[in-house]
This record gives sequence, structure tokens and C-alpha cells, in this order.
Amino acid sequence: MNNKVIIIGAGPAGLAAAITLAEKNIAVLVIDEYLYAGGRLLGQLYEEKPGTWWNGIVESERLVERAKAVHVEFLLQTSVSDLEKIGQMWVIHTTKGAFRTQHLLLATGAAESPFPIPGWTLPGVMSVGAAQVMTNVHRVKPGKRGVIVGVNVLSSAIAMELQLAGVHVAAITLPPTNLLTEGYSNPLEVMTSLLHVAHMAPSPLVKIGSKLMKNDFMKKLGITFYPKNGVKMWDIPIMLRKAVIEIVGKNQVEGVILATVNTDGSIVKGSEQHIKADFICIAGGLYPLAELASLAGCPFHYIEQLGGFIPLHNEQMETNLEGLYVAGNITGIEGAKVALAQGEVAALTIAQHLNGGASNHDIKLAIQAVEKTRATAHIQFHPEILAGRQQMKQIWNESVGSLSIH
Ligand SMILES: Cc1cc2nc3c(=O)[nH]c(=O)nc-3n(C[C@H](O)[C@H](O)[C@H](O)COP(=O)(O)OP(=O)(O)OC[C@H]3O[C@@H](n4cnc5c(N)ncnc54)[C@H](O)[C@@H]3O)c2cc1C
Repeated sequence: MNNKVIIIGAGPAGLAAAITLAEKNIAVLVIDEYLYAGGRLLGQLYEEKPGTWWNGIVESERLVERAKAVHVEFLLQTSVSDLEKIGQMWVIHTTKGAFRTQHLLLATGAAESPFPIPGWTLPGVMSVGAAQVMTNVHRVKPGKRGVIVGVNVLSSAIAMELQLAGVHVAAITLPPTNLLTEGYSNPLEVMTSLLHVAHMAPSPLVKIGSKLMKNDFMKKLGITFYPKNGVKMWDIPIMLRKAVIEIVGKNQVEGVILATVNTDGSIVKGSEQHIKADFICIAGGLYPLAELASLAGCPFHYIEQLGGFIPLHNEQMETNLEGLYVAGNITGIEGAKVALAQGEVAALTIAQHLNGGASNHDIKLAIQAVEKTRATAHIQFHPEILAGRQQMKQIWNESVGSLSIH
């Protein structure tokens, strides 16, 4: 087992890396705790442009087939709980024993940030990602009529997926203002961040409207006169002037208390109304799932545009710890296509270290492919992603040194 590259995470980043390595005759073991390979790709389903669908299950199946054809080994339903470095080897502690490797790639993806709302412990309250997995992966409807709390790119995409599956989404609304919902509960801030992704909106009205809101004055005007009952996308009202202040029900979710909010997020007293629902999704955004990098001893930097605390790494996907690499959402929150491209970069870097199986030129081209994919990405989780990537590059250059291939 010692001569194998080990990859933790069978999402798009891990799968792309495994295929690239195995195609170069490098033995690879992919460890993942889930039932199937594919990671968060499995839940994804959306129309990229009219008539062209991104179907995550189909994409995952294609990747797994390609991986199996080049003899990538999979160990699923196996959680990694700890990492340590003994001599030159990384020791990976899992629920199925310990594994060793000199070259370890962490491709553990992202996790969701929840926020508390009164009543959130009732059965029927779930994260928006859980609703996505239930619907698109397990084909189980989370309920008949739901309300999504938290307006962002992911919640809008998943609302559309629920609607496609025949689940009624009564509204996507803001959460109430508290210390933990800062940034998610202020109508103006939420609208400003949505304007960056308005090109994804299915409605020409929204696209045109968003183009008019170029300066602060127009944005303030826009949010002041934003319809209280929301603007419909995919027939779902996106309510930027309403917040769910409580989830109600006796033994399970029966509805929410919805209130109108002022432009600063404060509640308009007396505006509270009861809305019926049998499930509620909380959508607090995503952050990189990087605990294993922390256990390994990687330094971390907080970069808001990348989604939170990020392990120090360079463009070749190396960390500053010998033999440890990262790829995909662990390095910052982006869509699956960017994760795929990053996986290839990591694999080429590992191949170069192992047996000179990739040249500097190959790696440079792969990095350019990441940049190109990023520039044309259908889903952008953070409008300032490029600035975040630039910040990490600068931190690396200042702390570890400039890279030889640039
Ligand atoms: C809930 C959710 C919904 C998303 N929906 C979308 C969407 O609709 N569209 C979109 O473009 N992007 C979406 N994303 C972003 C998504 O993360 C990327 O699109 C892409 O899947 C990232 O690829 P990745 O390979 O980095 O990680 P992932 O696809 O997240 O794969 C990581 C894998 O690592 C495994 N893993 C993690 N920790 C361990 C451990 N300790 N031991 C063993 N295995 C472990 C996980 O089981 C998982 O299979 C979503 C993310 C989340 C969290």
C-alpha cells in the first residue's frame, strides 16, 4: 500500500485527480465516507444554457467508469478521522484501519453553515443541501410544501431542483437578524451579492432589472421598492423584504412566522403572518471542509471570498507540508467544474514529484485550464473569488516563496 497515492474524497476533485494519476500508471486509492463516489456532484442538476443540463449523477457515473477502467481503487463508507506524519509517510487513520502513503491529496470538499432560528430543532427542518441529497440522490421528497430560509446561489439552485421534482417551494426568504446571520439577513447586502449572479436568473425581467442597479443609489432604490411578496423566479417568490422569525409546529414543522423587514433587516412590527409548510430548509452558505488539513498541521488563512479558513497552498495544489496536497472546495468554494480542473493540477504535481510524469509546461497548462473554467463558471458562489485566489497566492509567495514554474 505504501507506494500508492491516497486521495481522501471521491468528489469531482478527487475523481479527476485519481483518473489523471492512474492514466499515468500511478497506483491510486480513493477513500470516501459516503455510500457512492461522486461527492456533492451527485446532487447537482441544472440547466446551464437552454436545453443543456448539468446532471451530476450522470457526470459522476462517467467519472467513476473512467476511474475503474484505469484501475483506481475505491474504499467507500470509510471515514478518515486523523492524519499524522511518521518519517516520510503520511499515516491515515480511518474507520477501517490505518493506511500509509508518501503522497496524500485532501479533496474533502465543503460543508454547510447552518444558522439557528427559533423552532429549528423540530422534525422537518433540514439544511438545504440535505433537501438536495434527499431529492436528487435518494429520490425522496423532503415534504410537500417547503420554505427556504437564506437567499443565496445555492438555495436558489436547490429551490429550482425541488420544484422540478414536484415539491412546492412556497418562498425563499431571509433569516431574522441576529449575531449569526450577519450578512445573510440584511436585504441590501443580500441583494448586492445576488446582483453578481443575476446572469443566471431565468427571468429576462430580473436580468434587465439587475443591470439597472449599477450604483449604490439605484441599489437602495431597488431594495426600498422591492415587492414585499417577492420577485418570482422559476415561479418561486424570492423574498428579500421578508424574514422567517420562527418555525412553528407541535411535533413537527407546520409552518413559519414570516415578517416584513425594513431595508436594514429590522422587523416591521405587526407584519407577522403564519405560512403553512411541512418542511423548512436552512441555507447559510458553504465553507471549506478542512479539518483534516488542520490535523495534518497546515497553516490556515481566513479568506472571506473563498468561504472561510483555507489551508495554505499554491497554484500547483501543494501545501507547505511535504507530500500533502489539496484540491477542490477545501481550497475555496466554487462549482464542480473548477474542482475537476483543480484535481487535474494536483495529480500532475504529484506525478511530477513521483516519477517526472508531468512537465512544468503540463502543470502550467492545467493551471490555465482552472483559470479558464473559473472565468466561464455557470455557478459562482462568491463574486470576488478571483481576489480571494490572488490573496492566497500572495500569502504563499510571501511566506513560502515564489514558484519556479511562473
Ligand atoms: C450541500 C452542498 C450542495 C452543493 N450543491 C452544489 C450545486 O448544486 N452546484 C455546484 O456547482 N456546486 C455545489 N456544491 C459545491 C460543491 O462542493 C462543488 O460543486 C464540488 O462538488 C466540490 O467538489 P470537491 O471534490 O471539492 O468536494 P465534494 O464534491 O464535496 O466531495 C468531497 C468528498 O469527500 C468526502 N469526505 C469528506 N471528509 C471526509 C472524511 N473525513 N473521510 C472520508 N471522506 C470524506 C465526502 O464524503 C465527499 O464525497 C455544493 C456543496 C455542498 C456542500
